[in-house]
Amino acid sequence: MTWEQRWHPLREEWIIVAAHRQDRPWIGETVDHEQPEVPDYLSDCYFCPGNTRVSGKRNDNYQSTFVFDNDHPCVGTDAPRDLETPAGIFRNSAATGIARVVCYSPQHNATLAELAASDIENLLTVWQQQYVELGSRDGINHVLTFENKGDVVGVSNPHPHCQIYATNFIFKTIETESRVSQRHFEETGHVLFQDILEAERVDGRRIIFENETAIAFLPYFARYAYETYVAPKQTHQSIATLTSEELRGFAEALKVLLVKLDNLWSMSFPYVLALHQAPTDGGRYDGFHFHIEIHPPLRRPNLLKYLAGPEIGGGNFLGDTAPESKAAELRGQPNTHYKQAQ
Ligand SMILES: [Zn+2]
Ligand SMILES: [Zn+2]
Repeated sequence: MTWEQRWHPLREEWIIVAAHRQDRPWIGETVDHEQPEVPDYLSDCYFCPGNTRVSGKRNDNYQSTFVFDNDHPCVGTDAPRDLETPAGIFRNSAATGIARVVCYSPQHNATLAELAASDIENLLTVWQQQYVELGSRDGINHVLTFENKGDVVGVSNPHPHCQIYATNFIFKTIETESRVSQRHFEETGHVLFQDILEAERVDGRRIIFENETAIAFLPYFARYAYETYVAPKQTHQSIATLTSEELRGFAEALKVLLVKLDNLWSMSFPYVLALHQAPTDGGRYDGFHFHIEIHPPLRRPNLLKYLAGPEIGGGNFLGDTAPESKAAELRGQPNTHYKQAQ
């Protein structure tokens, strides 16, 4: 039985782990587990090669990844700059920035978990280029690369892809992680994330996979049941400075983790995946350690994690499962994808 509060050192907040309650009866919303066969090309998919998008632009006949500016950008160079000044204490600013889409492959049905490790490695180099290119632009203070996967997280197009928001502001989570990591670095001379990795190694129960250069684990302070991190073992402030050897190790660790998540319930596992990288505003981020965070919304095959009173009302997470047992479930899964296992 695990019933305690755990401190999240990157967010500086408490998580309540109340795993003694997990067998209480629950009637929640269900997620359709049935997965119809998906073809590798769809003529009416906006992201498949050669197709025309809503904007009227035609996609390249691309062979690997395909990067383009989002046709429905939430931040954009065309955003209005002459804004009305709001009343009193209220503040506003122009929603300028750049929003892009990166299609992972020409195959409409090849999720990140199903790509070859070499294709994932290639995608990582695209993420490197985008961070450097967008982050070096004037007025871009942060580059957020993320993937929403699955109907339950509201994906508008199932063709495997991620999005990049390059913004004039720093997203809240990164702002917090940066501030906390830098303070820890100045106070102790340590990289906070390295201290987390060290504590994970000492305990050992939540490490899911590791190789020479990369590690995948379900952190002690996970907020979601299957929340998992992938990180290089050496500290890099962003993905941009990883060597080719580190990229290879990182691609392997990411693939193994995603395959294990899919294998858990023999279903394409929904998640929000985000690259946490140092801001590009010219500040000092010696204490920042690049990592990927994966936040799956499911607690069980047909059960969503609801954000309710504690999370929305109060701002802290309440978990019904012990991170140690969830990590053990994942570690026990094979490293070969169930679709490729027959
Ligand atoms: Zn498609
Ligand atoms: Zn993070």
